[in-house]
Amino acid sequence: MSSIPSRPLGDARGRPLRDLRISVTDRCNFRCVYCMPKEIFGKDFVFRERSELLSFEEIERLARIAVSLGVRKLRLTGGEPLLRRGIEQLVQMLAALRTPDGQPVDLALTTNGSALPVKAAALKAAGLSRVTVSLDSLDEARFQAINDVKFPVSRVLKAIDVAADAGLGPVKINTVLKRGVNEDEILPLAEHFRGTGHILRFIEYMDVGTTNGWKLDEVVPSAEVVQRIHEKYPLEPVKANEPGETATRWRYLDGAGEIGAISSVTNAFCGNCSRARISAEGQLYTCLFAGSGFDLRALLRGGASDAELAVALTGLWRKRDDNYSELRAALTPGNRRRIEMSYIGG
Ligand code: SAM
Ligand code: SF4
Ligand code: SF4
Repeated sequence: MSSIPSRPLGDARGRPLRDLRISVTDRCNFRCVYCMPKEIFGKDFVFRERSELLSFEEIERLARIAVSLGVRKLRLTGGEPLLRRGIEQLVQMLAALRTPDGQPVDLALTTNGSALPVKAAALKAAGLSRVTVSLDSLDEARFQAINDVKFPVSRVLKAIDVAADAGLGPVKINTVLKRGVNEDEILPLAEHFRGTGHILRFIEYMDVGTTNGWKLDEVVPSAEVVQRIHEKYPLEPVKANEPGETATRWRYLDGAGEIGAISSVTNAFCGNCSRARISAEGQLYTCLFAGSGFDLRALLRGGASDAELAVALTGLWRKRDDNYSELRAALTPGNRRRIEMSYIGG
């Protein structure tokens, strides 16, 4: 890789490339109403063929090159990543990667939890560091209405405990809040996870994609969430672990653990955004809100060398200027093509 400049890789705004999120499938066994609504992702929806998806070898190769360029965190996502057959094998391949100074990478996975009870031990054995489980409600009827496939909440709760027992903790639980849908669950969720060692994180509902009919007044601002919890269970801020961290962290004063708040809408963190995303069929996106990606699969399958791939990634990152969330307020809603969350994985 002698052709790669040795200076640290920064984008047009000086942000390093530290995080790579890899979608391993565009399929999911849930139809969360805000992510893969049935009207669009129904029986007739055409998902990608297996041959269109990057193979594990292709993913490993891209990840290895990204790690050589500065990536320190890899996150597997989807669709539902645990639906990808043999995912443990990919985890094992990625866990073997080393940074230029010989360190392992932080390897995490975001899941709806449905297959975790059967997969947690194997994922841990393969080298997965942590899991994040998505859970938007503790109420059975509401949870099933959100996932829209009648998946019981008790099974996700069990999956969280199984994952922690398997050593994949602390488990992060991601809750997307939507005004009028589940905002009344802020306290019940906080109460449920206080003192368990799991870390509950509230995420502001975002205008990703074009299928969820997003409206600004459906966003429950993080400040409101933290205030509501603080009134009952006093909180204090915790210093961020590192600059690119998306969540602001809060600790219960009584020692019952911590929560996180991800203010993607009300307090954009583009200034520190060090994430790139690769879709299941190998498109590279430099922003969650990008309208188009760069076709890495064409390079991979066209015979590009590692050095050529590294040059392509470096070039894409150097010219990256994305700051959509900072600009959101000034943009007219509905006038942009945007990729779907189920396609890129959050
Ligand atoms: N299927 C896996 C899961 O649900 O965890 C991984 C992929 S899913 C697209 C990743 C995360 O994106 C989930 O936590 C989901 O709740 C979140 N998400 C989907 N649409 C969203 C939106 N419009 N705003 C905020 N988060 C969203
Ligand atoms: Fe599937 Fe995750 Fe989207 Fe729900 S949020 S539909 S589980 S990809
Ligand atoms: Fe990063 Fe784009 Fe989100 Fe800003 S809007 S934080 S640049 S992904």
